[in-house]
Amino acid sequence: MPPAPRSLPDASGAKAPKAAKAQRDKLPGKRGVKPQGHPKRAARAPFWKAKTLEALNPAEWESLCDGCGRCCLVKLEDEDSGEIHFTDIACRLFNARTCRCTDYAHRRRKVHDCIKLTPATVRSLSWLPPTCAYRLVAEGRDLAWWHPLVSGSAMSVHEAGVSVKGRIGVSEKEVRLADYPDHIVDWPGKVPRTAKTKTGKTAS
Ligand code: SF4
Ligand code: SF4
Repeated sequence: MPPAPRSLPDASGAKAPKAAKAQRDKLPGKRGVKPQGHPKRAARAPFWKAKTLEALNPAEWESLCDGCGRCCLVKLEDEDSGEIHFTDIACRLFNARTCRCTDYAHRRRKVHDCIKLTPATVRSLSWLPPTCAYRLVAEGRDLAWWHPLVSGSAMSVHEAGVSVKGRIGVSEKEVRLADYPDHIVDWPGKVPRTAKTKTGKTAS
């Protein structure tokens, strides 16, 4: 779940969205289903290809989150243009080492602008990262090789350079609001080159 934007005092008049992120503790499914039984029976498509967001059950919904942590970065909204900027500031509940929320069950009590992702919010939030699985499924696209549901490993999102691991500048607990603009970054809104290769490494 991603945090919502916030306002800045004198900087460029931004609201900093702070994003809440959906967290996955387990990987309920793996990619695809092997054909079983009669050879003529076609293999079933994986659930994220076969279903809409609205049709997912709770376990499927949670498993769709790749654990990248991008949506748990504070975001700033320019009040004049409405443009939203990512920062490398992590939500106060975010654990930069594990890339997980430290209190997912009670997050919305502790972080009021942590947004609960639903099919409707996924379709309405303009700033969801281009790598976000909810956004991809909402757009009718497939998951990439590094998504844990495809790779079978929770580490592949880090290996592909998609997660925020190693890229957090500071926690919001440690930075003044006036300094937020100094932390604006553009990488969370992009697909890293390493995620476009099959190996997670860029060509030399
Ligand atoms: S409260 Fe948790 S899930 Fe919500 S933005 Fe913060 S770290 Fe992410
Ligand atoms: S896939 Fe990444 S950006 Fe999308 S909800 Fe999960 S952690 Fe956030």
